[in-house]
Amino acid sequence: MSFSTGRPASRRVPENFADDPRPGASGYVYCKGCGTPLESRARFTRSRPTVTVMMCDSCRERHGHDLIPVAGSATFCYRCGGPDEIFVTTGIWPETHHVCPRCLPDRAARYRSGNFAPPEPDAP
Ligand SMILES: [Zn+2]
Ligand SMILES: [Zn+2]
Repeated sequence: MSFSTGRPASRRVPENFADDPRPGASGYVYCKGCGTPLESRARFTRSRPTVTVMMCDSCRERHGHDLIPVAGSATFCYRCGGPDEIFVTTGIWPETHHVCPRCLPDRAARYRSGNFAPPEPDAP
């Protein structure tokens, strides 16, 4: 992990991804639609990677999109290739969240307990 300085960071709370212990697993990114290794992660180590495609050819064809599967589809983790867990919020406008329990165990646990509030940023 590296942190750039001198530029105002976005106000999003940075996500702490859990380490992937599988040998070589962190060398790739994975198709959101089926979880197969998509491409080497090497280019993402450069400063400003541009992600234009997050699915393999057959999934892009199947879903008609380059980045995300159609709503309601199962998704896989772009980071580790594992199946995402799907959470749907309750409320007037239910939202669907796809969370990888391996990479984001904290968030998955929070959603599982029904807490969909974003974590508080550092004190206002
Ligand atoms: Zn695919
Ligand atoms: Zn993952």
